[in-house]
Amino acid sequence: MPVFTPKETTEKSVLLQLRETQEGSKSTVPMVQLRSVTKTYNNGSQALFDLNLEVKQGDFLFLRGPSGSGKSTLLKLLYGEELPTQGEVIVDECNVARMKGDRLSLLRRRIGIVFQDYKLIPQRTVAENVTFVLQAQGYTRKEVQRRLEPTLKLVGLLSKADCFPDQLSGGEQQRVSIARAIVATPPLILADEPTGNLDFENSWQVMQIFQKLNSFGATVIVTTHDEQLVRRCNHPVVQVCNGRLYRK
Ligand code: ADP
Repeated sequence: MPVFTPKETTEKSVLLQLRETQEGSKSTVPMVQLRSVTKTYNNGSQALFDLNLEVKQGDFLFLRGPSGSGKSTLLKLLYGEELPTQGEVIVDECNVARMKGDRLSLLRRRIGIVFQDYKLIPQRTVAENVTFVLQAQGYTRKEVQRRLEPTLKLVGLLSKADCFPDQLSGGEQQRVSIARAIVATPPLILADEPTGNLDFENSWQVMQIFQKLNSFGATVIVTTHDEQLVRRCNHPVVQVCNGRLYRK
């Protein structure tokens, strides 16, 4: 498990650590591979058809498409929430369908997930929301504290550490959920419509955080239907349409 040196408790130390994790492998080793993946839900709903996709370590990719096109399903396959009906899903060199129990949990620790609806715990402060997963994973109290401050600084919420979610704006709540997703410095970040509930200003702030993380080596996959945001960011885009992928 990566460890900070005691003095290195800055935002930069979080990002540098991420870069060390990734250095030397950027854009050569695949982080995500889908091979002939089809997903049909138990009720017969066909969500994805024969998908092939490769995302290399350090890439930033947009999955753009209308509601119901299959974007969430694709991300769920990556973090093992759903299994493919056919084909293989490889994440960080692991075949996700073959991962169960502890091995799947370990893989998920290497994935930071951000949702449209934040999924914060209302009775817990910002700091508690960000750190409870680390505590559950057995990080020492000292290590948790060492990670908290630079992570909150990175998302611009250091001054809100003791606030509760209902004291924050939507944009701030989403930034808390990003802090929670990245506090363990995962090399892969999946964001499912992270700006779906935000105005353009807040959406742009959120995207800048993802771009910063990417610039320090994290692989980032963001689903969205926001054309304007995609255009402004200038990253590769794959269009999802009726369960199929189209390169732009
Ligand atoms: P998007 O994220 O682009 O809105 P989804 O991946 O959520 O699309 O959905 C793709 C298709 O799969 C839709 O037709 C949807 O109704 C269906 N679907 C999604 N989740 C389930 C589920 N749990 N059970 C059955 N069908 C589902």
